[in-house]
Amino acid sequence: MNIKLNNHFLDVKETYLFSDIAKRVKAFQAANPDREIIRMGIGDVTLPLPQSIVAAMEEAVREMASKDTFHGYPPEYGYDFLRDAISAHYKDLGVDVPSGSIYVSDGAKSDLGNLPDILGDNPILIPDPVYPVYVDSNLMNGRKISFAAGNQENGFLPLPPSAEGVEPSIIYLCSPNNPTGAVYSREGLTAWVDFAIKTGSLIIFDAAYEAFITEDKPHTIYEIPGADTCAVEVSSFSKFAGFTGVRCGWTVVPDALESNGIKLSKFWARRQATKFNGVSYVTQKGAAASLSGQGLEDCKANIAYYKRNAALMADVFSSKGIYYTGGVNSPYIWLKCPDNMGSWEFFDSLLNRFGVVGTPGEGFGANGAGYFRLTAFGSYENTIKACEFFKTL
Ligand code: PLP
Repeated sequence: MNIKLNNHFLDVKETYLFSDIAKRVKAFQAANPDREIIRMGIGDVTLPLPQSIVAAMEEAVREMASKDTFHGYPPEYGYDFLRDAISAHYKDLGVDVPSGSIYVSDGAKSDLGNLPDILGDNPILIPDPVYPVYVDSNLMNGRKISFAAGNQENGFLPLPPSAEGVEPSIIYLCSPNNPTGAVYSREGLTAWVDFAIKTGSLIIFDAAYEAFITEDKPHTIYEIPGADTCAVEVSSFSKFAGFTGVRCGWTVVPDALESNGIKLSKFWARRQATKFNGVSYVTQKGAAASLSGQGLEDCKANIAYYKRNAALMADVFSSKGIYYTGGVNSPYIWLKCPDNMGSWEFFDSLLNRFGVVGTPGEGFGANGAGYFRLTAFGSYENTIKACEFFKTL
């Protein structure tokens, strides 16, 4: 063939992180067939869907089986019952997000990857370390990226630079953050919103782990005054309702959001209607069930289970004086590798000594070097076992 390809894809670094981890674990298992492996590297939920949600989905399947209640193509932006339920969820968080500004999707990753479709060639500002999708989806479009360094000095919560002379940019923020588990305070997010307004920039706020927040920290960017004029928010049922395998999320594009007289919602609505055919009725019924009554209680119980694991790990690292972030409002613990070990050196050491698998920090950006991510998505029993090991570090 002789066609032109989008060669910006060549700018996306090959990621060997998870295949390298898998290779090392496989080699360890082959050499130590009797040793137990405790997996604390996964960013995926492990508890099954709550029965209350399964029941709502079963009921929806039965509706699909009858001529009178069958549903064909879903509305592009989501059924009203789900958009209303998400709007009510925001009301519970104390903010007014009208149903019409909520666009239901098959997950946060799709929306994060698709948002660049409606944006022109702006400079991009991304925290480092962070969820790699922000970087890769912009590299694929040939965008120029600069990074806001997260480090021990700022608690892995970088603040904006001076607004002086900064061009209008696209700013990604993730709070609670993957991989660091760090959560912005109201002051921190206000600084970013003020910066975005002053510089005419757009914030893309990723709230995928919002449900893990129990301290007094913002659950949504719209708690910050002025955010509806400068921010879209992407969120997900994946971690909150255990929907990683079911697939449902949403993006809020406020009506007030416009650039040079054009509403962003107009472009996003058009993009979704053109390239996306909606989320299945059964899925949306399950998602709606997670937001009220028994479904909500059951999801909160699952989150509490993971949070108990996170708290166990956080206690051990606190008592050992090992620097970490996260663990309180997040399923992630981000720790500094002891004895100035490199991330991979620490990975090998945890694996060989204890059979514990985590994720080396540099997989999430250059500033992750020397740090390590552990997740609370494993079982309570395994987390206790791992914590006994961590006590001997
Ligand atoms: N945003 C962050 C920060 C994540 O860590 C993840 C998944 O791990 C996602 C988004 C993806 O969410 P979804 O499953 O809704 O696509």
